[in-house]
Amino acid sequence: MATKIYHDSDADLNILKGKKIAVIGYGNQGRAQALCLHDSGLDVVVGARRNGESWGQASSDGLKVAEIPAAVKGADVVMVLLPDEVQPGVYKQQIAPNLKEGAALEFAHGFAITFKCIAPPAKNDVIMVAPKSPGRMVRQTYLEGFGVPSLIAVQQDATGKAKQVALALAKGLGSTKAGVLETDFREEATSDLFGEQAVLCGGVTALIEAGFETLVKAGYKPEIAYFEVLHELKLIVDLIQAGGMMHMWDSVSNTAEFGGLTRRDAVINDESKKAMKKILEDINSGKFAKEWSEEWKVDLKNMKRLEKEESEKQVEAVGKDIRALFERK
Ligand code: NDP
Ligand code: MG
Repeated sequence: MATKIYHDSDADLNILKGKKIAVIGYGNQGRAQALCLHDSGLDVVVGARRNGESWGQASSDGLKVAEIPAAVKGADVVMVLLPDEVQPGVYKQQIAPNLKEGAALEFAHGFAITFKCIAPPAKNDVIMVAPKSPGRMVRQTYLEGFGVPSLIAVQQDATGKAKQVALALAKGLGSTKAGVLETDFREEATSDLFGEQAVLCGGVTALIEAGFETLVKAGYKPEIAYFEVLHELKLIVDLIQAGGMMHMWDSVSNTAEFGGLTRRDAVINDESKKAMKKILEDINSGKFAKEWSEEWKVDLKNMKRLEKEESEKQVEAVGKDIRALFERK
């Protein structure tokens, strides 16, 4: 493999010893990362709002908690682990005025920096450590004595130590046990958006729903349709993730293999690739970022409408009933 993978021996936790690390936000990533860094022997303070849920959660988890401005004051590393749409406002009002010169501003996703929702001062390091997993997995894998793979990036190296700090944080999360790859903010942000829009979150749900609707419209029982196009998806994806495409093809019947290989182009084809290319262009041109930041201003009104429509789909109702039947008591 051409890309260098960083492991434990490439990172030195000592450069963070005695430094103050402020973790701003205590949600999916914030909680997992704050706890891992704390368990790795680092001095962590969580920045939260006093009237929010996170405040009590972080204190009952045994961590130091402070309001965001106080957490940022004097911190050597400020980890911005707030929802992407909240970051610009909190940064401007509570982080920027209190940010120490030379401190590292850290992100878990390149969105805010790439699309210039946040423009940090030149005197600060700007780095990213992006675990390629939901927070829960970050924590669980750490507790198992390992870590999830992460991407690191340096956008601004004011101190000359930015990359070492990013690697040390990745080590504190356990990620250097699994492997850490270097990227840049733009590559991470745009590829991540593309993946979630075209393939993972957007693509997969559209594929499932199209398959479900086709079967149900043709008169099949919704329960049967659910099993065929949704329930079994995980089994197939697990095979692909564990051993690649050929491992999956080898594990299903020859009938499934022949049918799948001869019919799939009818569903996903040059037309779909053209649409994917357009999705990528809109991401790279900033069109998507603009649309998404417009959405913040209307309090996610359109997203909430789409979310409601999605929740009312038949596949959701059927799924709820079926999953309840098979729940282990
Ligand atoms: P969450 O939605 O889980 O963040 C919730 C946290 O943000 C809570 O602590 C909440 O506090 C706080 N918060 C929300 N609004 C405000 C506000 N106005 N002022 C102060 N605090 C606020 O975020 P994620 O962990 O999902 O995402 C964080 C970053 O990590 C993002 O950049 C995301 O792209 C990235 N990322 C996320 C992954 C994931 O698994 N979800 C994977 C990889 C990267 P309170 O309890 O007070 O409401
Ligand atoms: Mg992603």
